[in-house]
Amino acid sequence: MLYPSEAVEKAISQLSQLPGIGRKSAQRIVFYLLKVPAEEVRLLAESLLRIKERVTRCSICCSITEQDPCAICTDPKRDQKVICVVEEANDVLAAQFAQEFYDRFFGTGAFAGRPQPLGQAFHEARMAIRAADPANPTWLAYVLYGDPYGQVVLGDGS
Ligand SMILES: [Zn+2]
Repeated sequence: MLYPSEAVEKAISQLSQLPGIGRKSAQRIVFYLLKVPAEEVRLLAESLLRIKERVTRCSICCSITEQDPCAICTDPKRDQKVICVVEEANDVLAAQFAQEFYDRFFGTGAFAGRPQPLGQAFHEARMAIRAADPANPTWLAYVLYGDPYGQVVLGDGS
């Protein structure tokens, strides 16, 4: 259905170019935006422009960032020997989960010398990710297969 407004058609056309947004979703978004105050639409438009002006890729890890190198790469507490490869920038939480989990399970980083049982390490890593980005439900996606009481035992290797 074509609308008698060139501006509405243009907005629907532009939004429907976005991944996961078909024409019907684009129509819903445009009609929603027609109902809200102009200030709200202006703030949305400015935030979209701002990401193009300010956000770049970290020269070390290629994650999205507003400072190069990013906060993760410049974190002095980060174990420089661990490299986590993620497919998309929004997978950074998965990399953080892995770091949180392995530090607890193997007793490294902030948990040096104090390895936790598998289940406890897993649970605490999930809670750390949840606290890092409360609006992101990614923390629910991690599943543990294994004995929750399994634990790394530190020794001299003999
Ligand atoms: Zn980085």
